[in-house]
Amino acid sequence: MAPMTLHPDSLAVHAGREDLAGLGVHALPLDLSSTNPLPGLELGGLSYEVLATGGHPFEGGSHVYARLWNPTVARFEEALARLEHAEEAVAFSSGMAAVTAVLLALTHDSGHRHVVAVRPLYGGTDHLLASGLLGVETTFCRPDEVAGALRPDTALVVLETPANPTLELVDIAAIVSAAGDVPVLVDNTFATPLLQQPLELGAALSLHSATKYLGGHGDVVGGVVACDARLAASLRRTRAITGALLHPLAAYLIHRGLATLPIRMRAQQANARAVAEWLTTREEVSRVHFPGFAECDSLGLVGTQQAGPGAMIAIELAGGFAAAASLVGSVELFTHAVSLGSVDSLIQHPAALTHRPVASAAKPSDALVRLSIGLEDPADLIADLGRALSARAEVREHADSSLG
Ligand SMILES: *Cc1c(COP(=O)(O)O)cnc(C)c1O
Repeated sequence: MAPMTLHPDSLAVHAGREDLAGLGVHALPLDLSSTNPLPGLELGGLSYEVLATGGHPFEGGSHVYARLWNPTVARFEEALARLEHAEEAVAFSSGMAAVTAVLLALTHDSGHRHVVAVRPLYGGTDHLLASGLLGVETTFCRPDEVAGALRPDTALVVLETPANPTLELVDIAAIVSAAGDVPVLVDNTFATPLLQQPLELGAALSLHSATKYLGGHGDVVGGVVACDARLAASLRRTRAITGALLHPLAAYLIHRGLATLPIRMRAQQANARAVAEWLTTREEVSRVHFPGFAECDSLGLVGTQQAGPGAMIAIELAGGFAAAASLVGSVELFTHAVSLGSVDSLIQHPAALTHRPVASAAKPSDALVRLSIGLEDPADLIADLGRALSARAEVREHADSSLG
């Protein structure tokens, strides 16, 4: 088999599984060992040394201890790296653990503590950067302000596209060019490697909350970063030292999820387009943010930088916060819950939840509601939203008439 010529749909099914037939198994082997037998003190010690400094296992050595290496996790990492067109990938216990490891590794390796962060970002990432918890000093800016925000001691530029929660698209190549020699981290969670490969556009690192589309079924938490071999070694070293491991069972579930990622993404994206188009016809909705609409993609990035619009929608309610609160409380088929990218549709209010810790100047509007569109029939999703939006209208009419 010539792996590099496989279509992404085939890669998603086969990557990280190439040796299974030779092992005589069909499903991904799940290795739950917390510790591993040592071949002897000398080779055991050498294995420890190699793995704790971010290297790969060697023939005749040992994996030593689960914090240093796990084969089930390594399979998932290999598969994700292939989909991202990266040399390697390193998995973590959550998306935030992955962000934390990138910040620790890059500030340590460069000896610099300054980060430029393009807003908007996921609320947790914004919170971590603003908190100063890791000793990192952050300058937040808009996409066109990156060059001016750089300092001689800038270790990293962070961006997200489509960005959480407004689905704003950021031109990755333009930011890479503005960043010069400074490495750029792209949070690729919303697009997934099926729609977008940031490393092809010059980014140094592509990060995912694997909790979302990669896992895809709302039953696993994880994070992963795709990058070159040098950065991967630094991230593995950081993971070995700080311990934010992806559990092998979680890696198994996320890897299993990868096989259906292309077909899920295409179906969810088509559903999202249908729902987004219908939402534009509703008078209760003052604005629909969906990257598939030309007015939401002024840089023309859908079809070039990113292969499709994705399956996330954000809407602003004409009735403001009260209407937004009523909508999230009135849906029945949608689940009112944070997170996204699952097979089922979710709805949430970013200002009150995922973006609650964000500074008020950068907080999303309290009229904004975010929808993650799943695999249900789009007509059922539309009917649910229609009922929930009219429930609000009835409340308002009732209130108006009782006032009258
Ligand atoms: C959820 C999310 C994260 C954080 O991931 P966790 O797995 O929840 O730690 C980071 N970035 C984006 C865009 C997210 O949606």
